[in-house]
Amino acid sequence: MPKATATCTCRHCGKTFYKDLFESGKGASRHLEEKVHWAENGGIDECPDCWKNRQRAEEKAAGLTCTIRLSSIYDDAPSVYAIFGGDSYSHKDELKAAGCRWTDAYPADTVIADMLGMTRQPKAWVMTSTDADELIAAAQKLGAPVALPDNMDLDTWAAARAEVLRIREKEQAERQSTTAAALETLGPIPAWPESIKVKWPAGATWNGKIYGKPGARNIYLSGQRISLTDDEANKMESVQRARAQWRKKKAEIEKNA
Ligand SMILES: [Zn+2]
Repeated sequence: MPKATATCTCRHCGKTFYKDLFESGKGASRHLEEKVHWAENGGIDECPDCWKNRQRAEEKAAGLTCTIRLSSIYDDAPSVYAIFGGDSYSHKDELKAAGCRWTDAYPADTVIADMLGMTRQPKAWVMTSTDADELIAAAQKLGAPVALPDNMDLDTWAAARAEVLRIREKEQAERQSTTAAALETLGPIPAWPESIKVKWPAGATWNGKIYGKPGARNIYLSGQRISLTDDEANKMESVQRARAQWRKKKAEIEKNA
């Protein structure tokens, strides 16, 4: 993008400062020249330092201000935010003592902007709570006039939030009963053959392997050798497959819970 630097003079302090100007589109350079001419002849006549000082003076004159904003009703843990502005700099010790954080993580001024994360917000002293009344009382204690959200009053927000929670709980309950029904249908894990169960030492585990040749098969249950007939060996294999299948099904049911 074409760029030019204008040499400007501050109307407050007389200092020379530089401002980068940009232009885009057709015939840009001519427009850029005009822009520079305008900027250098009084169009831009406040240096960054003086601008900052003027902002500070305006903030001071405004005193401490406070705006209340609500987080999304869809948040897992929705909260209410008190955002302090105006002359918050002079009050920073009190704000800090009251539990405020210096952050840009707070809801934007409109619900849409907040949802889309459109605006880059300046850092501010921010207090947050899940209890709106408590937060407003705390903000008022700091002496700031408290501006409540104008796009949505607290009662409307609370009602909308309650509805969101009601739907979530209903969905959760439905999922739970679907899961319970599926587990009921699945039934218990397929049991090992009775003839092996009686030989199974208490608490012993099987590594899932069958050793030996037909006619001389055996397994190890926690190191203890158990001889199997061919029929038992076949049964063990089929139960093993059935148990693996059962575990897979159970995991699928629980995944959807
Ligand atoms: Zn200046």
